[in-house]
Amino acid sequence: MKSKLGIIMCVTVLLTAVCDAGPSTLSVTTIKQEPYTMPKGTELEGYCMDLLSELSKKLSFKYNVHLVKDGNYGRQDERGNWNGMIGEVLRGEADLAVAPLTLTATREKVVEMSKPFMQTGISFIIHKDMGSNDPDLFNFLCPFSTETWVGILVAYLVTGVCIYIVSRLSPCEWSEPQTEENSFSLMHSLWYTAGAIALQGAGPHPKALSGRVIVAIWWFFVVVLLASYFANLSSAQQSDKPQVSLATFEDLANQDMVEYGTLSVSSTLTFFKNSNNLLYRRIYENMERKKSFVSSFDEGTRRAQKGNYAFIGESVSLDLAASRYCNLDRSREVIGMRGYSIVGPIGSSIMKNVSVAILQLSEAGELDYLRNKWWSSSCMQEGSAASSGHPHRLKGAFVVLGLGLGLGVMLALLELISSSRKSAKEQKKNCCSVLSAELSQRLGTSGAQKTQETTDKSKP
Ligand code: GLU
Repeated sequence: MKSKLGIIMCVTVLLTAVCDAGPSTLSVTTIKQEPYTMPKGTELEGYCMDLLSELSKKLSFKYNVHLVKDGNYGRQDERGNWNGMIGEVLRGEADLAVAPLTLTATREKVVEMSKPFMQTGISFIIHKDMGSNDPDLFNFLCPFSTETWVGILVAYLVTGVCIYIVSRLSPCEWSEPQTEENSFSLMHSLWYTAGAIALQGAGPHPKALSGRVIVAIWWFFVVVLLASYFANLSSAQQSDKPQVSLATFEDLANQDMVEYGTLSVSSTLTFFKNSNNLLYRRIYENMERKKSFVSSFDEGTRRAQKGNYAFIGESVSLDLAASRYCNLDRSREVIGMRGYSIVGPIGSSIMKNVSVAILQLSEAGELDYLRNKWWSSSCMQEGSAASSGHPHRLKGAFVVLGLGLGLGVMLALLELISSSRKSAKEQKKNCCSVLSAELSQRLGTSGAQKTQETTDKSKP
């Protein structure tokens, strides 16, 4: 067996030597995993593809990429044979493996591994309902998303200001700007609008049609808003939360309600298998007993999203899943620090240069740039966000409110125009000049000054 392996290695070294003699096209194996390598049409894209292209520029080589045939990273079986990408490099089917391949002692013995291009550790993702259930002080805000709360605040302020403006413009509301004070000051308008949120009438109601239109539309908006708030709040509270809170590996090991597992062929599994730590051994034995492994990273993420399953894997990859799917939480505990390396056959001269290039890319900040490029993402799943209302769910109510406010202001202007026309006729003046005088009196400071003067004069 050993001699066979020796022959394979010699052939690989010879081939590599031949390849190293001049500019060559390297055959690169990789594995499909977000965001490292993902299909895009007929091409592949992702962090590893960008890294490979940077390396090829630095080391001046051409390459052909293929996905590993058996879909595995690389594990040695009982007979000493390697599968996955490590196996392909060992058998000479690939010159390089560029993927999230963990640097381990057993692999380092049979292949050449570069300096790590990314650091990670082991952690787990779990459905948010089962993660650390820290009681949230501001749970009452959860029915709406931040955008919706901001939208409501803006709607409230705009409506308050509209009621204020309309009450000043409308002659039916404020008939004598010279002598009487407007009952709808800005403070009163805002207070009145706030009162409606609690279904309370705060102070005098508007008398003019324009003001009443705005108020009626605001009441309608508030009713829709409250109905949606209470529906979301009660559905969030009724979500059948299991009575477990799993924040650490110890929590996982000490319970039997939630299954947990790793990828069936992975360095994470090997870590638990070979660990001397009693806790980690218990975790491994439980996984073996229940055969709770998954065959791919996607399957692990899917099972975790369904609930009742904790997917144990490498934190850097789990971070992406947790940021993509808002209903997933990544445990804060990270164990077994390790790194991802590029793999080549033993004796390959290019590997030394690959390590140097990786260090150069790291020192130049290129690796950080790639990390930010491929890890920046926002939640894609509506699952948990469903309970915190998205602005578009209330979009209709916001639109109706906007139209109502516009209509109210328009009606107020019409009321003012018709009353200006009437008084222009009576005073035999130009309608426009009467209107502009009215406008400056009602919206400008002159109205207030006159009111003040009148009040002063009437004082004994
Ligand atoms: N990166 C791992 C490996 O090289 C696979 C993922 C895992 O262990 O969780 O085997």
